[in-house]
Amino acid sequence: EELYRIRGWGEPYFSINAAGHITVSPQGDRGGSLDLYELVEALRQRDLELPLLLRFSDILKDRIERLNACFAKAIARYSYAGTYRGVFPVKCNQQRHLIEDLVRFGQPFQFGLEAGSKPELLIALATLNTPGALLICNGYKDEGYIETAMLGQRLGQQPFIVLEQLDEVDTVIQTSQRLGIQPLLGVRAKLSTRGVGRWSDSAGDRAKFGLSIADILTVVERLRAAGMLSCLRLLHFHIGSQVSAISAIKDALREACQIYVELAKLGAPMGYLDVGGGLGVDYDGSKTNFHASKNYSTQNYANDVVAEVKEACAARDLPVPTLISESGRAVASHQSVLIFDVLGTSEATQSTPEPLQPGEHALVRELYEIYESTHANNYQEAYNDALQFKEEAASLFDFGYLSLTERARIERLFWACCRQIVEIVRQEDYVPDELEDLEKSMASIYYVNLSVFQSAPDSWAIDQLFPILPIHRLNEEPTSRATLADLTCDSDGKINQFIDLRGVKDVLELHNYIPGQPYYLGLFLGGAYQEIMGSLHNLFGQTNTVHIQLTPKGYQIEHVVKGDTMAQVLSYVEYSAEDLLEQIRRRSEQALQNRDISLDEARLLQKNYQNSLNHYTYLS
Ligand code: PLP
Repeated sequence: EELYRIRGWGEPYFSINAAGHITVSPQGDRGGSLDLYELVEALRQRDLELPLLLRFSDILKDRIERLNACFAKAIARYSYAGTYRGVFPVKCNQQRHLIEDLVRFGQPFQFGLEAGSKPELLIALATLNTPGALLICNGYKDEGYIETAMLGQRLGQQPFIVLEQLDEVDTVIQTSQRLGIQPLLGVRAKLSTRGVGRWSDSAGDRAKFGLSIADILTVVERLRAAGMLSCLRLLHFHIGSQVSAISAIKDALREACQIYVELAKLGAPMGYLDVGGGLGVDYDGSKTNFHASKNYSTQNYANDVVAEVKEACAARDLPVPTLISESGRAVASHQSVLIFDVLGTSEATQSTPEPLQPGEHALVRELYEIYESTHANNYQEAYNDALQFKEEAASLFDFGYLSLTERARIERLFWACCRQIVEIVRQEDYVPDELEDLEKSMASIYYVNLSVFQSAPDSWAIDQLFPILPIHRLNEEPTSRATLADLTCDSDGKINQFIDLRGVKDVLELHNYIPGQPYYLGLFLGGAYQEIMGSLHNLFGQTNTVHIQLTPKGYQIEHVVKGDTMAQVLSYVEYSAEDLLEQIRRRSEQALQNRDISLDEARLLQKNYQNSLNHYTYLS
């Protein structure tokens, strides 16, 4: 558990059982648990191939309940005279089953949805059926967006149109007058307080979204002039996703609260404060302000929001607003686990070198001596010498003074020396600069049945850290240190950053791979943003997805969403499976006539082609 820091990032949902398998406890400590390895085996017996995305709807439910419980507790603690009505930003994961579950699980808390685009608005309008739940409409808006959102009011929805660009206010006024609907309006403020970490540019003067203070005043004046200031009910801000330091949240709240009270003073009725997203996820389990972590709990977050808003309103004698947060990552990340298998490995040379023979090349003799004499007191010097001999060997080879066999012998000896040195370095507290990368260059490569671009795009695009570890054999000592290489023909299709006590490490401890025996790895906490941002690079399609729900007897498979077949991914780039098959048939006929192919071969080729079209894009 220590090695992979499961307790840090996995609690209360993931742990290791006596069999050395990961267990999933979707309701935390309040319910039953599942052996993840056994679950995967059972799903494979149902012909569900890897990679497999497992969705645990009970975890989603638990996340919503916990978030709401934290706000309820904070509201009670500070005797806050208002309520909390969270919304889920649909952009985080638009998958229908997930959104439908989310709306259902959120009903007791009047949990709503946030839309950031027209298609997301369509999802939210049709799906959100909880009386009293809010529908926050963010993002760029044209007349169609605004009109649809306003008409949602007639369906009993509470759509808040949040003005993010100055020109939206005129469209809103005109549409409102044309439809005769008094809309619920909000403004998104561009705070000068910034978030911290990767998404800190979401706030600040040059932020993409939001209105400056001057723009907000213009909005107020235009609404007043149109007799619509009474529609301005909400202030929204968002300082970026994955805010790792609570201090940034507090600073933003302080600034936003002042804007809120000032807007009320200007005559807007207000009543709602939307603090946006940003509630972090502790991906590396360190509970620090490192970008892959956060130095606060959800309870700290809720307490700070409630206390800060209460204080600001009390200072101006204003009634407190209904609080809204748009937490996406913190709600959706934990519910999914991606399982993939190892297909093979490429090891840095492991064998013990052959003993020295009389008459071997001088460089071989030198390296052999280093190999025999390296110890904790001279390993740094040994490394420098070995490196120099290896380089000398390469230049002698270039000039024809070294045979291929001798060069191979020298390289094997060099790596044998490095292996010894790396063993020593692992025991040391201090790692000399020149040896920093040695572990990485000695690492094995584990080839995995996965496309990073499809299933973990943030790992490629922004070096996002996700916990990755074997889901079984966890009571065996891992003996390899490896990086992961995916199926794509792209050298960026790899994962070589893993969570570590000291931040990030280049290699992952894994067990030796035994060909013919399954070795399953899991990527955890990837339930937010990854699925929809995944791309079809090299035409690896969407993975199989299985929704699992716990029952008193174990679990049940709620939904199976089959991953893309090759025919499907080909159709996304405008190929018709039928046309392709027909072309193969014609070319086979031509080859038959030319006697370039036998009839049996032609039949086999067409059968394989046809089968592939209906098959999963990943390796079997
Ligand atoms: N609200 C807005 C306006 C956003 O842009 C985002 C995403 O960055 C979110 C909410 C969700 O943020 P998070 O997933 O960090 O909770």
